[in-house]
Amino acid sequence: SKEKGGNSYHYYQPEMNKRSLHRLNLEIHLRKALERDEFRIFYQPIVDLSNGKIYGMESLIRWVHPEWGMISPAEFIPLAEETGLIIPIGNWVLKQSCLNNKKWQNIGHPPLCVSVNISAIQFHQPQFVQLVEKTLEETGLEPKLLCLEITENVAMTNISYIIDTMQKLRALGVRISIDDFGTGYSSFSYLKRFRVHTLKIDQSFIRDVTVDEENAAIVTALIAMSRQLKIKSLAEGVETQEQLDFLINQGCDEVQGYVFSKPMPAHEFELMIKENKQL
Ligand code: C2E
Ligand code: CA
Ligand code: CA
Ligand code: CA
Repeated sequence: SKEKGGNSYHYYQPEMNKRSLHRLNLEIHLRKALERDEFRIFYQPIVDLSNGKIYGMESLIRWVHPEWGMISPAEFIPLAEETGLIIPIGNWVLKQSCLNNKKWQNIGHPPLCVSVNISAIQFHQPQFVQLVEKTLEETGLEPKLLCLEITENVAMTNISYIIDTMQKLRALGVRISIDDFGTGYSSFSYLKRFRVHTLKIDQSFIRDVTVDEENAAIVTALIAMSRQLKIKSLAEGVETQEQLDFLINQGCDEVQGYVFSKPMPAHEFELMIKENKQL
């Protein structure tokens, strides 16, 4: 058994070193990414199924490293959260999203609502509401044209603080959606208590909604429940016409996914809305 332990030592140690080195390297570069202007926001349209028009867009961050190329948020957002870097990065995303949305409104496009992902750590900053208020003032964006996407996990700790913060945000006039609904510790009663505007049905339920009867039942129930609670339902990760038809039949309010468009760089999104291209 000593032999075995020795083996696993030799086997695992270099791997662990490689992983922690990779992490450290990533962290060092992540710290410099903001000042080096390496982040970009991609925008993915959200379509209103009642009229087929673009209702808004979700801001999705990308990190374009000069040597490594495009890095997915799935890779660096967790690290940014662990290190606290999510605060300056998140502030940047919020400001940039509001600025661009205002700019696009100024070039004559009908008002769009921009959705920004907010990490739990950001949401729990004591000054978060003031920060949102200040950003709206500085960018001149109407509050109702900003939507904050908050995951269920945020919504599970320190309930009274969350209800209070949600209340203040609602008083500001911004919208709130619950992201990835159904994947976390969903509690339906909180939906009502938080009084969010939109429920985003997680893409894991949409993926095989047309072949998996259980997912179909869940999606149907979530859409019906949203309607009863007067919350808008938004299905994300919609890739096929069949999925879209299913959602239309169920009376889903809004849809986001490759069936309409992938997330795209700001200049492409701007072109699309300028040309008023029908999705
Ligand atoms: P999310 O908020 O659930 O965002 C939706 C993800 O689904 C995005 O991945 C989007 O590109 C992808 N997607 C959209 N339509 C489709 C589709 O039809 N099919 C498939 N398979 N995927 C689709 P992305 O951009 O890689 O972002 C991953 C996650 O990173 C996001 O998940 C969000 O949790 C996080 N994230 C992205 N930007 C930010 C940010 O600015 N701040 C924070 N805190 N998190 C962010
Ligand atoms: Ca989201
Ligand atoms: Ca989501
Ligand atoms: Ca997600």
